[in-house]
Amino acid sequence: MKGRTNPRQLLRIKFGICPDCGGDESAPGGLRCAKCRDEQNARHRKVYAMQRANGKPRRTPEKYKELAEEARAKRNDRTSRGQCIQCPNPVTRYRRCLRCRKADAECKRQYRNRQKRKAELKVAA
Ligand SMILES: [Zn+2]
Ligand SMILES: [Zn+2]
Repeated sequence: MKGRTNPRQLLRIKFGICPDCGGDESAPGGLRCAKCRDEQNARHRKVYAMQRANGKPRRTPEKYKELAEEARAKRNDRTSRGQCIQCPNPVTRYRRCLRCRKADAECKRQYRNRQKRKAELKVAA
């Protein structure tokens, strides 16, 4: 359940009421009531059926492996051509260019800060 910010829906979820219709109580183990859940399942099935009809393959473990293999081949290809593995920038010593390495370092720094703050909150509580 990503990005559910509607306050009324949040309130409904809190009280165990179906966020979609606000009527029946949520079905056990789910947010929605049985009726809305069935409706949504039907919607999902429709989307899957459409994706299959459009030739979109289902994501299987084999498919994931294949994609990972492809990504690795792409990275190796880029490395052998002296290109950053994440962008078209040229690299010399490293597998990634300075910009990508900086972005990665910043990402890691922020992650560490978040973890630190979490730990501090736990101590304070
Ligand atoms: Zn409902
Ligand atoms: Zn790069």
